[in-house]
Amino acid sequence: MKDSNFLKEKNARSVWHPMAHPADCLANPPTIVTGAHGVRIRDVDGHEVVDGVGGLWNVNLGFSCQPVKQAIADQLERLPYYSIFRGTTNDAVIELSELLREFFEPDGLSRAFYTSGGSDSVETALRLARQYHKVRGEGTRTKFLSLKKGYHGTHMGGASVNGNANFRTQYEPLLPGCHHIPAPLTYRNPFNETDPEKLAQLCLQALEDEIAFQGAGTIAAFIMEPILGAGGVIVPHETFMPGVREICTRNGILLIADEVITAFGRSGSWSGSRHWGVQPDMMSTAKAITNGYFPFGAVMIAEHVAETFEKDTTGKANIGHGYTYSGHPVGAAAAIACLEETKRLKVNENAAARGAELFAGLQTLQEKYDAIGDVRGGHGLMCALELVSDRGTKAAIDKARINRLQEVAYQSGAMVRVSGNNVILSPPLVLTASDVETILSSIEAGFQAIT
Ligand code: PMP
Repeated sequence: MKDSNFLKEKNARSVWHPMAHPADCLANPPTIVTGAHGVRIRDVDGHEVVDGVGGLWNVNLGFSCQPVKQAIADQLERLPYYSIFRGTTNDAVIELSELLREFFEPDGLSRAFYTSGGSDSVETALRLARQYHKVRGEGTRTKFLSLKKGYHGTHMGGASVNGNANFRTQYEPLLPGCHHIPAPLTYRNPFNETDPEKLAQLCLQALEDEIAFQGAGTIAAFIMEPILGAGGVIVPHETFMPGVREICTRNGILLIADEVITAFGRSGSWSGSRHWGVQPDMMSTAKAITNGYFPFGAVMIAEHVAETFEKDTTGKANIGHGYTYSGHPVGAAAAIACLEETKRLKVNENAAARGAELFAGLQTLQEKYDAIGDVRGGHGLMCALELVSDRGTKAAIDKARINRLQEVAYQSGAMVRVSGNNVILSPPLVLTASDVETILSSIEAGFQAIT
């Protein structure tokens, strides 16, 4: 193993990092992770911490999931690659599709279209939504609606429905016909409404107004995360997503649930849509589908959407979209093993139990540290702290302080993620109660250092 300084130097010389300013990476070299086991990662200097980030919301089963590793190795040996473009398929993808059909049956989703990750899945869902309307003879339905603060990946379609300027401004102009409504975030919203249920109604009204303004017949789909993740773990009131479902159905608009984070147990339910009792028309998934061990994703499609395509006789339903790695057999084999482990371990139940402990612990920290403006979560293992320099004005904390907090938390035993003025926690779902304690005490050490 090369030493730390050698690797840092080479990293600075040759690697550009996603979601980072190149100059910032030079000034603050990233942690070099060289190993992991269980829910812990180890850096090049041998320092080991609990991974409060869970890879990137994806390593739900931890880093030592042997059945998944074995499935990948076996599949590589048997059939390392073949495409599933028209004319060929593979046995791994067939088996996976049957398992996914069963897994998502309560969500009303029965067909799978495979991708290489979350952004691909979002792009696929947006495209299929437009095509669905064309197949039905409603080709004017081309626009997309979404939530401000929503995150839908980085392809041009996904960036266009993203609701955070940081992921948009430098890449404009984006796709025309994408419009955003306020997110149901009680801590900050244009209505100054702090009651979650009233706020949900106001946001639903904003959706109704936008549809009326645009004309329902011009809108293809509304896309939303059932619980917003990257935007800072925004948990809508339980009436919100059912309300969106009703409005979409009444207006002939497809509802795409972006469950790249929430599918497979993170919210404490098997899917975020199920958490709110909603059946979407399409669902984008990725991340935990392969536990982060292989780049892979799937768009799950509702029966009625599938039938529209399958019964088409005009040729318009020919799918002119797909990726070289759609249905990759190694990804499919990894996903089969992940699904089996996910169900066997009932990781959703542990996510709910550990998530409740983590959320309660963060609320206790809020009582002690003024820098915590808002604590969000309470549904599985996805939590965020929004940090402020002043609770009254809610002005964002300065960057140096939040970075220092992250650094001290890391030295004290936990990797946490900083995104804007949020500290985001999305640990593996196989976390123990004592791991939760480690995360909380490490964060507390961080607050002590900046207070
Ligand atoms: N949608 C959501 C809801 C996500 O959280 C993410 C990634 N964090 C994406 C899409 C994009 O996924 P990927 O980074 O795998 O392309």
